[in-house]
Amino acid sequence: MKLFAQKEAADFVKTGAKEFRYNRDIRLTPGARDVLVEAGIKVVFDAGATGVPAAPAAAAAPAAGKPDALALFNSPEAKKLKDDIVEMGRRCWIRDYNDGNGGNISARLGPHFLCTPTGVSKGFLKPDMVCLVDIDGNQLAGNAPWKRTSEILSHIGIYKAVPAAASVCHAHPIHATAFAMAGIEPPQCLIPEVEVFVGTIPVAEYKTPGSPEMSVLLGKLAPQHQAILMGNHGVITWGTSVEDAYFKMEITDSYCRTLWVAAQLPSKRTIIPPDEVKKLLDMKQKMGLPDDRLGLKAAQLCDCDPWDQITDRPQASATPTGPAPDKMTNAELESLVQKLTDQVVAQLGKSA
Ligand SMILES: [Zn+2]
Repeated sequence: MKLFAQKEAADFVKTGAKEFRYNRDIRLTPGARDVLVEAGIKVVFDAGATGVPAAPAAAAAPAAGKPDALALFNSPEAKKLKDDIVEMGRRCWIRDYNDGNGGNISARLGPHFLCTPTGVSKGFLKPDMVCLVDIDGNQLAGNAPWKRTSEILSHIGIYKAVPAAASVCHAHPIHATAFAMAGIEPPQCLIPEVEVFVGTIPVAEYKTPGSPEMSVLLGKLAPQHQAILMGNHGVITWGTSVEDAYFKMEITDSYCRTLWVAAQLPSKRTIIPPDEVKKLLDMKQKMGLPDDRLGLKAAQLCDCDPWDQITDRPQASATPTGPAPDKMTNAELESLVQKLTDQVVAQLGKSA
């Protein structure tokens, strides 16, 4: 009979295996069992198992990383978060929030963070693709060949500023991203759920995605805003769980979509009365949710007409390079459309 003690168990943890099978030829000490269980490894007695326990075939490419980080990376808590990240990635992709490999999701795990890898569609993630990083964004653990998202610093900027943030979700949902591109802050006093569960949604000025500057800027906005539009880029939200961060994304994009549809209607331009908005904010305060309007008087809420913000907007101040579209003749417009179509076709031909 072979003795399998704590030292052997510690070596086994380093292989990154998820399961330990042993038979009656192996004497597993209680201490060794504790080491395995604490590292999130399933211990299975299997009378049919042969020889010395070894990493199962599935773990042929063991997770790389420091031993203590690996124990955390393979813990039951990490497994649950990895499953949640995969599921929310799937929901983002199904709802058309991410194009190509865009978007990323992360979750706080002890002093570190789990995050999606770079270069993978959020609709086709698997739990073993999720990476572990430290507070500086350095990858501590992960299965080859997966490398952490290039935008992890944006997430970390939020985690550093908001201890209550358990998860961060970044995506490029069409409607909210359109608001981010247009530089329009979605107005308030129109939908109660948005007031309570998201609140005001600022537009952060454009910074290089994943840069330290972006991280600092998001850190400044996140304590009072759970959803932030990233100028000319996308949306980032934080929540008290992976699903909560995703919900903020869903509410933000649905709201921007509703605003866009409402702006097309012959509207009576009704709003939630300011004293009613005040009641919603009082409720929000009791729920412990952040909002930059907490403490304001009813008269200070909805002081500018939210309908003005989504309809009769002033013309963009950018200097037009050609004649304004309404001054173009049909022939000029047709020729412009043809030129653009030719350029797109030529570009497609190059990238095929
Ligand atoms: Zn992005």
